Amino acid sequence: EQYSREEILNIVEEEDVEFIRLQFTDMFGTMKNIAIPAGKLPKAMDDRCIIDASSIEGFIRTEESEMYLRPDLATFSILPWRPQQGKVARLICDLIRTDGTPYEGSPRYLLKEVLKKAESLGYTLKVNTECEFFLFHTDDNGIPTTITHERAGYLDLSPVDLGENARRDIVLTLEEMGYEVESSRHQIAPGQHEVEFCMDDALETADKIMTVKTAIRTIAKRHGLHATFMPKPKAGVDGSGMHIHLSLFKDGKNVFYDPDSEDGLSSDAYAFLAGILKHIKGMTAFCNPLVNSYKRLTTGFEAPSQIYWSKSERASLVKIPFQRGQETRIELRSPDGAANPYVVFALCLAAGLEGTEEQMKPQKEGRTEETELLPTNLSEALKAMKEDPLMEEILGRRFLKIYNQAKEKEWMSYMEQISMWELEQYLYKI
Ligand code: GLU
Ligand code: MG
Repeated sequence: EQYSREEILNIVEEEDVEFIRLQFTDMFGTMKNIAIPAGKLPKAMDDRCIIDASSIEGFIRTEESEMYLRPDLATFSILPWRPQQGKVARLICDLIRTDGTPYEGSPRYLLKEVLKKAESLGYTLKVNTECEFFLFHTDDNGIPTTITHERAGYLDLSPVDLGENARRDIVLTLEEMGYEVESSRHQIAPGQHEVEFCMDDALETADKIMTVKTAIRTIAKRHGLHATFMPKPKAGVDGSGMHIHLSLFKDGKNVFYDPDSEDGLSSDAYAFLAGILKHIKGMTAFCNPLVNSYKRLTTGFEAPSQIYWSKSERASLVKIPFQRGQETRIELRSPDGAANPYVVFALCLAAGLEGTEEQMKPQKEGRTEETELLPTNLSEALKAMKEDPLMEEILGRRFLKIYNQAKEKEWMSYMEQISMWELEQYLYKI
């Protein structure tokens, strides 16, 4: 639902909203919040809310560190998990330089730019995601553990499913915010859950993911549980992915669908798929941004590690699900919940469009002897990122440089650690 400026001010008045959170997402996919009292909302709507971006990681540090927050009025929403008296609403913002130009280091802006390019070709991108997460217990001091007391497996029903109440509460809350949930269910590992949304425009879906992560964490906490999107919190069981379903539309029609082809898929669907496969190595540093991400990817449990596509194989990197007609989609299965959705959607769209523009053909379906591997750790992924010119073209030199520096540091810091596993393996024997 789209509100005008006046309507928003009225709702704030009538609903007794006391605080407005101005939100934006940084380069690393972390949501930042600035709360203003409701009385300051008109000022914020006039782009007069200034932040000092120099203290935000990945943003300009020295020159022009002052930036305006420009609220996107379409994102106005009252946060149902905040107090019902003296309510809290939020607006997602774009970052604007003091000279009025959009700040190109903001991931939301980068996605909008790629969407604009797609639009100039007549395309809109629709996306939905399956977000997996664990619900763990906290210890007596409220510190999260990786302990779950449940033994439920895939699609099991209560009473074994202790997270059931928490998940029901999560879904109800999301629906209260106007987010249509396609399905929610217990996942494969004990304590693992999933929420899947309905297809929506790419920008809306990215905004939704950021909101939903906060909502899930907050509501889990209310049930005494800790929700985590960490890609592989436990060895020996499934990790958590964030599978992304992509569909391209033109004139209201799904261009991936071709009723006259044997399998219902158009040549554009295959070309888009080919573009993604071509760039997936370079994109992996964004789809899988943590040291930990690669422990999910390289250990099986239905997470992809090889670069191939399939209509039937569940562990493939790209799966083409059975739906056809307006529901025809391509599912990218490598991304995890640590990924910045704005960046990942921007890259998927750019890579896919390169495929359709050049009418690329994907490799043959399935795995062969020659099937290549995804990067197997963060360091390899950063190398692949630097080798793929599309990354710089879409994200810009400066974004890439800062991202690379921060992630190399993360990798080095990890390499400096000596794990229990190493001590157990080597200390006595060697
Ligand atoms: N948890 C798996 C992953 O890491 C996916 C399981 C599934 O396909 O449902 O991607
Ligand atoms: Mg899936």
